[in-house]
Amino acid sequence: MSKRRLNESSSAPQQPPAKKLASIFAPRGSTPFKSRKLGPKQTCWHGVWGEPKGSSKVLALDLDGTVVVPKTGKKFPEDEFDWKWWDASVPGKLKQMHKDGYSLVLISNQAGKPKQQEAFFRKIPLLGAALDLPLQAFAALGYDQYRKPGTGMWDLFVEDFNEGVEVDLEQSIYVGDAAGRPLRTGHKEDHSDTDRKMALNVSLPFLTPEEFFFKEPNDPNWTLYGWDPKTHDHSLPLFLPTNIPLLPRPFSEFEALKPEVVVFVGSPASGKTSLFTKYFAPAGYVHVNQDTLKSRPKCLTAVRDAITSSQSCVVDNTSPKRAIRKEYLDLVRKEFPGTTIRILHFTAHKDLCVHNSLYRAATRGSQREVLPIIAFSSYFSNFEEPKDEEGFDSIQKINFKFEGSDEEKQRWQRWHDCFFQKPKNAGKGTGKGTR
Ligand SMILES: [Mg+2]
Repeated sequence: MSKRRLNESSSAPQQPPAKKLASIFAPRGSTPFKSRKLGPKQTCWHGVWGEPKGSSKVLALDLDGTVVVPKTGKKFPEDEFDWKWWDASVPGKLKQMHKDGYSLVLISNQAGKPKQQEAFFRKIPLLGAALDLPLQAFAALGYDQYRKPGTGMWDLFVEDFNEGVEVDLEQSIYVGDAAGRPLRTGHKEDHSDTDRKMALNVSLPFLTPEEFFFKEPNDPNWTLYGWDPKTHDHSLPLFLPTNIPLLPRPFSEFEALKPEVVVFVGSPASGKTSLFTKYFAPAGYVHVNQDTLKSRPKCLTAVRDAITSSQSCVVDNTSPKRAIRKEYLDLVRKEFPGTTIRILHFTAHKDLCVHNSLYRAATRGSQREVLPIIAFSSYFSNFEEPKDEEGFDSIQKINFKFEGSDEEKQRWQRWHDCFFQKPKNAGKGTGKGTR
């Protein structure tokens, strides 16, 4: 770690409470520990003990249940002192890896209460002092792109905190206990599968603590839970039925098109605004959006104004309920008889939409925030499938297709399910051995 970087990271030093330190943990000389919070919403904590050097070989480890366990035997540690090594061999093994040229990086989900997070921040320098090895630690403090299996913490390390040294993925290792293993002799089933998923996301060789520290043979018995973005079918037609064009076509170049109203129905992050931008904006459609206009009456007024001035428009709101859609239908049928009003229904399911939201937020340089889970649950619990009898001129379905470069698509296909731990009574999951 360069001096410059250490200085940069000194804005919010988190020093271990000196009076509480047991003497064997007291670092020699000045405290070689710095930390700060990163990310647009400061939801990624980064701590540095000593002066880690950039290395192409990285040993990344989950912390709880992998490097340490609470010595009280509780599920969650009581405070920063409530830890012991996962096994007595841990410090020796880590020292050997450091000697062999590996950078040590701890990667931990810590979306707990502020008090637990503070204890975690104080624990890292205690571990650093006990190991007496240079190391870095990342902690995801919220439910966003940093939380495993999301790759925000790893990406930050690779891009900004390895002194510009490119990581050799084949030579590097990620060790974690959240590996999707079932109940097995002497062990409970794993509480989740997020460590294995994160390793898969970034193509890091993955080992469980047993495989890494005890050299146990690779256990093929594991299952990944939840929705796997690799399973999404991007080959369906963009819209169905296909006999109605997405945009009306004039019969001849002399015929002016009559203005129309297109009502979108779809969850947040189902691709509505992207579709508008790609097809409807270039065709001169007015964008009517409640996030911008702030109220439905204002959206209705915007529709009225558009048609009055002979402009087509798109109502780009979620509009899950029939009663909401009826307001636009009634306006058009009463005030502009003969004007077409039709529905485009974005069929993307909830997991897919949550995934899109996380993907967008995780995209470098994106200003978008992860939407709260309630935004999705609210849409889907209110959703009433658009039906012919509602009286619209047509209803078409829009299938979600990811659009981007091959590299972007690969990133889109990463597991991003930070909201979902293994569901209770999950039954059979998906993805076993497939990735
Ligand atoms: Mg763990």
